[in-house]
Amino acid sequence: MTSETEIKIHQCECDVCQAGTDLEIARHHRQMNVFLSRLNEPQRRWYVGLLSQRPDSPSDRQLAKITGLDEKTIQRGRQELAAELAGLPSDRQRRPGGGRLRAEKRTPS
Ligand SMILES: [Zn+2]
Repeated sequence: MTSETEIKIHQCECDVCQAGTDLEIARHHRQMNVFLSRLNEPQRRWYVGLLSQRPDSPSDRQLAKITGLDEKTIQRGRQELAAELAGLPSDRQRRPGGGRLRAEKRTPS
């Protein structure tokens, strides 16, 4: 047990995972959340913003359930990517402790 790094991994709340009918999809969503748990907050919204633009992507509402991000946060990530992240600091420029993770907002279901 490693207790020094407590990484919170969001549990997917999408219908497929709730129903437990498609293990492939459930595993994919789990891996997305494992990956997201290692990113900082801007990186998370950019990643999901990027995913949301794929032709076969789920809707923002679905992505919000899958990732635990707000729909607004996903929209914002998409807008920031569209603007090529202009004016946004890269991770290297961040001061340590400046990028505190906010508690995840829960989407009411
Ligand atoms: Zn899911």
